[in-house]
Amino acid sequence: MNADLLVVGSGFFGLTVAERLAEELGLRVQVIDRRPHIGGNAYSEDEPTTGIEVHRYGAHLFHTSNERVWEYANRFTAFTDYVHRVYTRHDGEVFPMPINLGTINQFFRAAYGPEEAKALIREQAGELAGTDPQNLNDKGIQLIGRPLYEAFIKHYTAKQWQTDPMDLPAAVISRLPVRYTYDNRYFNDTHEGLPVDGYTAWLERMADHPRIEVALDTDFFDDAHAFSRSKVLGQLPVVYTGPVDRYFDFAEGELGWRTLDFEQEVLQVGDFQGTPVMNYADDDVAFTRIHEFRHFHPERDYPTDKTVIMREFSRFAESGDEPYYPVNTAHDRERLLKYRDLAKGERDVLFGGRLGTYKYLDMHMAIGAALSMVDNKLVPALRAGST
Ligand code: UDP
Repeated sequence: MNADLLVVGSGFFGLTVAERLAEELGLRVQVIDRRPHIGGNAYSEDEPTTGIEVHRYGAHLFHTSNERVWEYANRFTAFTDYVHRVYTRHDGEVFPMPINLGTINQFFRAAYGPEEAKALIREQAGELAGTDPQNLNDKGIQLIGRPLYEAFIKHYTAKQWQTDPMDLPAAVISRLPVRYTYDNRYFNDTHEGLPVDGYTAWLERMADHPRIEVALDTDFFDDAHAFSRSKVLGQLPVVYTGPVDRYFDFAEGELGWRTLDFEQEVLQVGDFQGTPVMNYADDDVAFTRIHEFRHFHPERDYPTDKTVIMREFSRFAESGDEPYYPVNTAHDRERLLKYRDLAKGERDVLFGGRLGTYKYLDMHMAIGAALSMVDNKLVPALRAGST
């Protein structure tokens, strides 16, 4: 075998590990991916009739406050000055998201200043004001009060998760800032932007190294090739970024995942919605949001008479579906602990990435976690002769 290490999965986590080990340690790294393309869910491609870059697995917005991750990402791509902003439709009106003073004043037909708005929300959060709730429902109400929660979060979350918000972790909603200013930037991070030549060019540059080999359409669990689980274990160290429950043949039961379905359309208009992402907060439509990809790259020379939109639907993943978001109910967390114990027992295998750790990782977190795994686990273990 012409490799020192196998990386299963070519998403940001897998490619970061591969690139660092090849470049920094001079190792020969074999990367395999079950899909016909690299990049996992960050993969994008140009829609053929318009040339508009479409994020094949839903909109991916890069943002980070981690200087190391930002510096690392910039080795492979330059970034545009894109700043993400989202609007949401509720009851026939469009409001800015995340919830800010603009949303609050539009919703209450008011002109509150920051202190007045805070006092109002505190009152509307009732007994939950100032507490530290552990589930999404209570956290949502505590953050923005019941009326705003019911308008903007309750139905959207029901569509996205189809799980009782009482059973969802508070962390899901804590991702969204609440601001008592008119700042409607979606992310709080220091650095933000989109890769100038697209995600796929970025991912390809990470993989483009003389000591990295990538084999696509190659499933770790399929015995037909040289890098299958049965042939590799005990022979090569492995960094596995696929679903952790799949690795153990679901011995402790399946972990809950959400999957997404997308409906893409090319429309014969120059602009459909005037903004990259429009959320649909109500339950009158089944989709959660519509992406209009031309707006992610206003600097590009796209056709002015056509546009590409994608409606996003969310549902529980069944076998064969792509897993996107860990549901993470209490039941899932119990199972995860058992899988973590099993994972510790796998001597030559390290688990990483969103699927391998069952964590809601953004791209910058996946890259950051991979850099840490290389420094803290792989480099010492490989120097000592074992993972
Ligand atoms: N959310 C919501 N309404 C919105 C946007 C978000 O209720 O208009 C909730 C929903 O539960 C979602 C969570 O906030 O899962 C996090 O939103 P984010 O935009 O970070 O989700 P992602 O883009 O990762 O799907």
